[in-house]
Amino acid sequence: MSNFDVIVIGGGHNGLINAAYLARAGRKVLVLERRHVLGGAAVTEEVFPGFKFSVCSYVVSLLRPEIIRELDLPRHGLEILPLDGTFTPMPNGDYLWRVNDHARTRREIARHSRLDAEAYAEYGKAMVEMGRFVKPILAMTPPDPTTLEPRGLKDLLFLARRFQALPDEDKYNQIQLMTMSAVDFLDQWFETDVLKATMSASGIIGTFLGVRSPGTAYVLLHHYMGEIDGAFRSWGLSRGGTGAISLACAAAAKEAGVEIRTETAVSRIIVKEGAAVGVVLENGDYLTANVVSSSVDPHQTFLKMVGTEHLPEEFTGDVRRFKFRGSSGKVNLALEALPDFTSLPGAGPHLRGAISISPSVDYMERAYDDAKYGRYSRRPYIDMVIPSLTDPSVAPPGTHVMSCFVQYAPYHLKQGSWDEVKESFGDTVIDTIAEYAPNIRNIIRHRQVVTPLDLEREWGLTEGNIFQGELTLEQLFFLRPAPGWARYRTPVRNLYMCGSATHPGGGIMGAPGRNAAMRILKDVGAGAAARV
Ligand SMILES: Cc1cc2nc3c(=O)[nH]c(=O)nc-3n(C[C@H](O)[C@H](O)[C@H](O)COP(=O)(O)OP(=O)(O)OC[C@H]3O[C@@H](n4cnc5c(N)ncnc54)[C@H](O)[C@@H]3O)c2cc1C
Repeated sequence: MSNFDVIVIGGGHNGLINAAYLARAGRKVLVLERRHVLGGAAVTEEVFPGFKFSVCSYVVSLLRPEIIRELDLPRHGLEILPLDGTFTPMPNGDYLWRVNDHARTRREIARHSRLDAEAYAEYGKAMVEMGRFVKPILAMTPPDPTTLEPRGLKDLLFLARRFQALPDEDKYNQIQLMTMSAVDFLDQWFETDVLKATMSASGIIGTFLGVRSPGTAYVLLHHYMGEIDGAFRSWGLSRGGTGAISLACAAAAKEAGVEIRTETAVSRIIVKEGAAVGVVLENGDYLTANVVSSSVDPHQTFLKMVGTEHLPEEFTGDVRRFKFRGSSGKVNLALEALPDFTSLPGAGPHLRGAISISPSVDYMERAYDDAKYGRYSRRPYIDMVIPSLTDPSVAPPGTHVMSCFVQYAPYHLKQGSWDEVKESFGDTVIDTIAEYAPNIRNIIRHRQVVTPLDLEREWGLTEGNIFQGELTLEQLFFLRPAPGWARYRTPVRNLYMCGSATHPGGGIMGAPGRNAAMRILKDVGAGAAARV
């Protein structure tokens, strides 16, 4: 008899959500997390005394409302605080400041272009429609068009009918989103450079692509699909940092009976006669289970933990070809005061939303040019938030934390190693911010620099990819993480995948964890008391 019905590898939010659903269906579930703290890339850590950093992910929008509801996450401590707007300072002393109030944003955009102010509302409506079209796909096990399985065919038909029912305009938009670059797509709507640059930024997050690379328009949509309290496209901060989301998932899982062990790394998945039967821990302990569900990426899961001897050659090849190509870093700051932007001085409400260093499309593309040739951007795209303004619990009174998400920080450097250039990368980020907010250097009390190598070493993210694999079209839907294996199953019987490397991909979304739990329960029978 096995020790557990299911062992979940990894205590990030997807692993915890996966475990919670399985335990609620009566399974005996164990979660094993390598780090000392739960959350994976959705984690809060008090890196410096009193300063709580959302070390990796920093804003939330994609977390599926059905998960919040079903796991009753607010009762377990989840609270999402709205993040209002995006402020983009410009080198010429002007700025662009979009907020959630449509009338104000319209007036602000009209300052730059009347035509764009008109187009902005239309664009918003079109993207919401596109988001609605894609929404049911998020909760679905992706049907594989190459199989003739009746259930898959039914799902494909459902998708084809939905597409058919779209107005022609939306059909064209959908196809354009799937094929174009973010900038080409936005060029069709807008003329203001800074507006296009800031909007296109969502298209490159976590990819090794530039705003002018085909395929990035889809990533725009991926970031548009989030909703908070039913409002599409809204982003928020989690009270207590993004780690509080994971802790709420962990509390829901524990309430359902899940056992969670931290500082417990899995070194091998035990495979006998083509089926997973348990895991070996780094300390040598051996735990058995009827099902193993891995929330870590396919490189770690298959090449390191399973071993290619247990896998079909073609599948191993696909896993080796799965693209990671980490391109992002983080600089987290503990501040003694607020940054003062030359273009809009003072501690105004513009500091409460996102602050984007994305002054022009050329600037964004040049940042990518550096990365293409193996160096971090000399002038990077930076997305900043100051959560302590909305949630004072994350910093001592009178001080602040500022989270700076940076692109590009290519995992593969042409010269030197990330350990050698880590601090100079941090300096470049501060120098860039100082061009817009010159007081920044004088107000930093502590600084934490997170490189793609740190993401790989500390969080197990291969090549530092923030989404456990690029969100590019050839790695999405029925192709994620490998053609033919997008249904959370793997070539090893009783081994499942439940993390961001599976459909519908990365972000604090929870959908992979929930979808995989549904898959496991369907495959092994949902009888509440029965062992799987
Ligand atoms: C720098 C950065 C910024 C981001 N910004 C945002 C953002 O603002 N908003 C957003 O929505 N998304 C953001 N993301 C993406 C998002 O955080 C991730 O997609 C998501 O958190 C992944 O969740 P997961 O549970 O699938 O995997 P992970 O969070 O990767 O969890 C996997 C877990 O497995 C553990 N593990 C690894 N190996 C082992 C082992 N051998 N044994 C046991 N445990 C193991 C890891 O320690 C980790 O805890 C960001 C990610 C990063 C890295």
